[in-house]
Amino acid sequence: MTSPRVNLLDFDADQMAAYVAGLNEKPFRAKQLMQWIHQRGVSDINDMSDLAKSFRATLLDKAEVLSLPVIKDEHAADGTRKWLLDVGAGNAVESVFIPEDDRGTLCISSQAGCAVNCRFCSTGHQGFSRNLTAGEIIGQLWFAEHLLRNDPNAIRRVEQYPTPGWEHTGRVISNVVLMGMGEPLLNYDNVVTALRLMLDDRAYGLSRRRVTVSTSGVVPMIDRLAQDCPVALAVSLHAPNDKLRDQLVPLNLKYPLRELLAACERYLPFAPRDFLTFEYCMLDGVNDSDIQAKELVRLLANIKCKINLIPFNPFPESGLKRSSAQRIHAFASILLDAGMVATVRKTRGDDIAAACGQLAGDVVDRTRVRERAVHEKQIQHDHEEAADSVDDEEEQEYQPEHPVQWLKRLDG
Ligand code: SAH
Ligand code: SF4
Repeated sequence: MTSPRVNLLDFDADQMAAYVAGLNEKPFRAKQLMQWIHQRGVSDINDMSDLAKSFRATLLDKAEVLSLPVIKDEHAADGTRKWLLDVGAGNAVESVFIPEDDRGTLCISSQAGCAVNCRFCSTGHQGFSRNLTAGEIIGQLWFAEHLLRNDPNAIRRVEQYPTPGWEHTGRVISNVVLMGMGEPLLNYDNVVTALRLMLDDRAYGLSRRRVTVSTSGVVPMIDRLAQDCPVALAVSLHAPNDKLRDQLVPLNLKYPLRELLAACERYLPFAPRDFLTFEYCMLDGVNDSDIQAKELVRLLANIKCKINLIPFNPFPESGLKRSSAQRIHAFASILLDAGMVATVRKTRGDDIAAACGQLAGDVVDRTRVRERAVHEKQIQHDHEEAADSVDDEEEQEYQPEHPVQWLKRLDG
C-alpha cells in the first residue's frame, strides 16, 4: 500500500526545511517551495520549474498542495465574498473576504463546528465536528489570496490601501481574522503553524497587528500565544459579569472573568500596539442595558482596550433578538462618555449571510448542502433584485463603523 501524500500546506518554514532535509535536498529547496506555494500560489508540482526534475519526481510521489474543495462561491452586492468549503464527512466551513477602502480582510475558520456552544452562535449550535489541519487553515488564505489576485475588482481596491508600497507586493488580503467557525485556541498547534505562515516574509508577510485571533477565553492558551506568536487578540466577552457570561459563553464556568481578565492583562505587553479588543454581541434585553454598560466600564477600567459592539445576527434556533439601533447607541454612549474606545461593527454581505455568527458550516449530509445551495441561490437572486434597497437600509442603520460619527448621524 502506498502511504498517503503529505500536504505541503501543513508546513511552516521550519517544518518545510526539516521535510526537505529529510529528502536529502539542500535547504534552499525549502525556500523555493515556500515561494512557489505561498507567494505564487502554485499547487501543481510540475509547474515549479526551477526545481530539479529528480526533486519534482520525488515530490510528485510523496507530496501535494491541497486546500479545501469549494462547494460554493458567493458574491454580495457590497463586494463581500464567501466560500463554503468541504471538510469531508458531510461537513463544511466558511471563509469570508470583506473588502474595505483601506484594507482587505479575510475571516477564516479554525474548526468544523465548535464545542464551546455559546448561546448566540449558530456554529456552537451545530456542535463540534473536528479540528482543521494547519494546511486547511492556511489553505483558506492561500486559496482566497491567489484567487482574488485575478479579480479586477479586488485589485482595484488594493491601490487604495494606505500602506505605502502595498500595491507592489501584489497582495490583495491585508488583514486576517480568525473569527469564522470554531474556537482557534482549542486547536492551538495547527492555528499557531498557520499564524507563523501568515507572518512569514517567505509566505504572506503580514504584520502581527494585521492578524487577529478571536477567542471565547481559553486562559492557558492566551498565555501560550503570548510566547509563541503574539498577534492581535480579540476576546469575546458579551457580558459584564460571571452570572450572565456563564449562560452566554459556557466556557466561563471553567475560566471565569477574573481569570480571563488577568490573562488579558498578562497578554497586553505582548499585544501589537499594546491593546486588546473585546467583542460584545448586542442581544436585545439580555446584555444591552445601561446598568450593564456601566458594569462593563468598571470591569474594563484598567485594561487598555477597544470594545467592539457587534449587532447580533439572529438565527431561528437562538430565540434571541438583535438590540435596536437606539439601544446600541445608548450603550455605546455610556462607554464613550466614560472615556472608553468603542466601535460598532458594520454588518457586511447581508445578502449572502456573510456576517460573523451566520457562517453555516457543519452540515450532516452533503445532499442537503447541495439542496441548500440551490435554495440559497434562489434567495440570493431575490436579494440581488432588491439589493440596492436592502443595502441602503443596512448602511443607514449601522454605518459608519465608528460610533462617534454613527451617533452624530443618529442624533442629526
Ligand atoms: N470562537 C471564537 C472566534 C469565532 S466567533 C470566538 O468566540 O471569539 C467570532 C465572533 O463572532 C465572536 O466574537 C463571536 O462571539 C461572534 N458571534 C458569534 N455568533 C454571533 C452572532 N450570531 N451574531 C453576532 N456575533 C456573533
Ligand atoms: Fe465557538 Fe466562538 Fe461560536 Fe462560541 S462564539 S460557539 S467559541 S465559534
